[in-house]
Amino acid sequence: MRLKILGCSGGIGGNLRTTSMLLDHDMLIDAGTGVGDLLVAELSLIDHIFVTHSHMDHVSSIPFLADTVGWMRNKPITVHATAETIAILKEHLFNWLLWPDFAQIPDAKNPVLRYETITLGKTVELNGRRITPLPANHVVPAVGFRIDSGRASLVFTGDTTTNDPLWREVNRVDNLRYLIIETAFCNSEKDLAITSKHLCPSMLAEELSKLKRPAEIYITHLKPGEIELTMREVEECAAKWKPRMLQHSQVFEF
Ligand SMILES: [Zn+2]
Ligand SMILES: [Zn+2]
Repeated sequence: MRLKILGCSGGIGGNLRTTSMLLDHDMLIDAGTGVGDLLVAELSLIDHIFVTHSHMDHVSSIPFLADTVGWMRNKPITVHATAETIAILKEHLFNWLLWPDFAQIPDAKNPVLRYETITLGKTVELNGRRITPLPANHVVPAVGFRIDSGRASLVFTGDTTTNDPLWREVNRVDNLRYLIIETAFCNSEKDLAITSKHLCPSMLAEELSKLKRPAEIYITHLKPGEIELTMREVEECAAKWKPRMLQHSQVFEF
């Protein structure tokens, strides 16, 4: 299994892209602005999109993807999300006002887009790749994902603040190799991190102290303009876990 980071920033500008990962050639984990770097031929191969939550930085490329490749494909793109997230996408994004409802285009029987409901803890298996939604604690309904190749697992927290139920699940992942965890704000913005249900470096350290398994730790969702400051603080607060910054175009093979 090959996971390529298409975007891992909290914002855009220069070479910054918002959250998206390409799993093999046919699956996306979130669909932020990083998806726009793929060639049209690559975009046309995307069959599945797993969505952590409805925020724009995680879904903004779904409308353009549907519009760009719909006519090239003979089967729908499946959006896998919780019932709550699907309801938000239908009501607030694919509502004919912000964007057409591609679940009805060209017609409801052969749509460009279809939805599949996912449930916390229930694994979806696609060609031997196992994706399991994990608990997240964010301002809208949200999940993280365990991605399990059989040989090893990568856990992606999605957007979350302090989250004890997540650690109960992560501590059960016997083949855990990688943990990608957000740290959206620097320590001086801790109040904002709490209000917007994200993490800052001191909160990250508290969260990592609940992890009972060894894992390579990667930090994502850093705010543009505060990247160096936040990573310095991460290294101070959470040194014993040796966290590294997740990189655009980084590839995980597992
Ligand atoms: Zn969010
Ligand atoms: Zn986000």
